[in-house]
Amino acid sequence: MKHLRLFKPILSLLLTVIPSMATAPVRTLAWNGHQGAVTFTFDDACRSQVAHVLSAIDSRGIAATFNVSDNADFVDNQSQWIAAAQKGNEITNHTSDHVDLSKLSDSASIADQIIDQAKWLRSLDPSMESVTFAYPYCNTNAMVDRITNREAIIGRTCGGTALFSWSKQPTNWMRMTSHIVSDDLSYANALKGLDNAKNDHSWFVTLNHGVGGDWLSVSPEKVTDMFDRALANDLWIDTYQRVASYWRASFTMDTVQAVSTSSGWEMRWTSPHARMPKQVHLRIELDKAFFTVPVSVFQNGKEIPPEADGSYDVEFMDLALEVRRTAAIPEIEPSPSSIHQSLPTGIGSMVSPAWFNLSGRRVGLSDAE
Ligand SMILES: [Zn+2]
Repeated sequence: MKHLRLFKPILSLLLTVIPSMATAPVRTLAWNGHQGAVTFTFDDACRSQVAHVLSAIDSRGIAATFNVSDNADFVDNQSQWIAAAQKGNEITNHTSDHVDLSKLSDSASIADQIIDQAKWLRSLDPSMESVTFAYPYCNTNAMVDRITNREAIIGRTCGGTALFSWSKQPTNWMRMTSHIVSDDLSYANALKGLDNAKNDHSWFVTLNHGVGGDWLSVSPEKVTDMFDRALANDLWIDTYQRVASYWRASFTMDTVQAVSTSSGWEMRWTSPHARMPKQVHLRIELDKAFFTVPVSVFQNGKEIPPEADGSYDVEFMDLALEVRRTAAIPEIEPSPSSIHQSLPTGIGSMVSPAWFNLSGRRVGLSDAE
């Protein structure tokens, strides 16, 4: 019993210390601060998409993803596709020749189809980073996954609910499903998917082909109904590249540890994939249980002002973040002599000019930063 009495206070101390050690200093806002997310993808550079989708996207101020091959449908409208990419839409990889990669037996042929198309799209315009991929006929296998992973941060298949929950990291980023919209029933289910994305705070991915023409076609009105339902549901409507890179980055960001520095804390991390886009904006919150003093956020020496909700819009691809203590009026101002007296001879002249009490407030010797 004597041992237990001694052990109890130690145990309760451990229980209070351990959770705070495990707490991540920052947290990424799910789906860019929205209820949920949706990516509308359109395949094959159908001419009906140029006629009916591009202007509907523009007029609503949203963005979509178009997976294209190097075919006449694309090349004939190339300038319009490039203009769409420059406006923030994603024009990306669907192989050079729209072949079923799972039927190719040699890795060189698979690589040609994926890598050549990615390089070609990147050469057309800097706005086309082409770091996401859609498998023709939704078919892949282990070898195709591996080769896709060299060029893309995510590979799109189809089938299933095509709804992804924020906290559940995919087991295979190269096999992410999508919901094909090709008739009245699949359109009705797409509207339900857009409602589920809001209610379950998840990411929904649709796949369309023809829009009022071409193949697997649905009417332009049905497509604009989907856009408007997504807007009404306050979903984050954005490209496959932007949503996927944001989500992938969050799994790194939310496990980053902060290291103490003389001015506050520093966080450093590595990119989770060699093909992450050049820029990945993340909205993060600082953990108030970790940062108990007033702080400011900096990247590359430049202060990031807080948003209205207190979050910060940071650039994940800077791979570093600094949190500085904001200068506060000291509570206690001990005389330099009293500090010198408590230190062994000779050390007083070597210590840091800044001192902080237990709550992190500066009680320092000088005003030097
Ligand atoms: Zn296709």
